[in-house]
Amino acid sequence: MIIVPLGVASATPTAVRHLPSVALWREGDVHLFDCGENTQMRMLQAGLKRSKIENIFISHFDVDHYSGLIGLLSTLQLQRRDRTLNIIGPKGIKEYVEWNISFAKVDLNYDLNFVEVEEDFESQRVVDEDEYYVEARPLNHSKFCMGFRFQEKDKPGKVDAEKAEALGITEDAQYKALKAGEDIELSDGKIIKSYDIVGHPRPGDSFAYISDTKYCPNAVKLAMNTNILYHEATFSESLADKAVETGHSTSGDAARVATEAQTKLLVIGHFSARYTNPFVLLREARAKFFPAWLATELRPIYTNPSQEKGIVQQKVYIKEIDEKSDSKSPRKKSYDKGSGSGKRFIKRRGSSDRGDDRRGSNRRGSSSRRDDSGGERRKRRPERQSKERDYNRDYNKDYNNDNQGSSRPPKHITPRTPFDNFDRF
Ligand SMILES: [Zn+2]
Repeated sequence: MIIVPLGVASATPTAVRHLPSVALWREGDVHLFDCGENTQMRMLQAGLKRSKIENIFISHFDVDHYSGLIGLLSTLQLQRRDRTLNIIGPKGIKEYVEWNISFAKVDLNYDLNFVEVEEDFESQRVVDEDEYYVEARPLNHSKFCMGFRFQEKDKPGKVDAEKAEALGITEDAQYKALKAGEDIELSDGKIIKSYDIVGHPRPGDSFAYISDTKYCPNAVKLAMNTNILYHEATFSESLADKAVETGHSTSGDAARVATEAQTKLLVIGHFSARYTNPFVLLREARAKFFPAWLATELRPIYTNPSQEKGIVQQKVYIKEIDEKSDSKSPRKKSYDKGSGSGKRFIKRRGSSDRGDDRRGSNRRGSSSRRDDSGGERRKRRPERQSKERDYNRDYNKDYNNDNQGSSRPPKHITPRTPFDNFDRF
């Protein structure tokens, strides 16, 4: 199971953070938790195929959590999807989606299967498949909002092949039956008990997605003993009053849920736009629970790193603001070695879009930018490649220079202006 945060902002996006969405990759399928604006682009950048989406879970009807849904459905239509797509959300999600589709006069070429959840429920299994299920529970936000737990069902124990062979088991069907917990009878009448050959069932992996809520016992229930708990941490402890008032959590609340649920890993996200540097939230969470990580957009989080690394390959750079910005050698830095893929900078092949923009604006415009380092060189192909290498080097240099505001202290809070007295989530 691989978790890829696609958007870690709260209600308003920032220059570097997108509206809420988290992807879960499992056995080639993708499950989306919330679908804020930009989700489908972030999936492309994360290296996740939109055609692989099985389920989309919408936690609640704050616009930032579902504003990317219609665009994504439209893309799937244009991609000629023909498999059913499941959409799980509060009651009303069906009406919202169907109205939009009929408004656009689109005749969808794939089926939508809606699971609508009414407000007064305690717990509901909203998806139940052979290998996993998803449980929803209500949270405590300013409007009806659900949290989800994605749970793999226990996997059969491992078969002791040597022992099985010694006992005379040869056929695949026999192995299968034993693995499924059945005892079998051999041709000589000998009974082989499943528990003699098959080890204990292996517990499945689990993930809890807790968005937009105050501290809430249901969040603890959903997150109980999970491998990964993704919990919102909109505010720092100093704004605890504001968190309560708006139905959100502080980083301390997230850590409290993680502690009570005994999750293996807490990942905090849904950061208020006021935190230009969310490390302040991480510090607070870590003071109460460890291990805790910051959700970083596009950086995968693995339940089984040795088997899962490399499956999801980002297509863009991940830029990260470090606490101690001595960034002459950013590749060497690591604030938490266990986090994510361990790759702090993932180089995209060829030039980067962002790099192009930067270069275009710094020089004479994008159309002429290839001319400015020697007209002759671009005529021959190998040299163009070397130019691309130079370009990448320049880009990295620019990037490093950018980070060299290192003499300044880390800035955690965006300065407010007199006109800026609205609530920034
Ligand atoms: Zn939200």
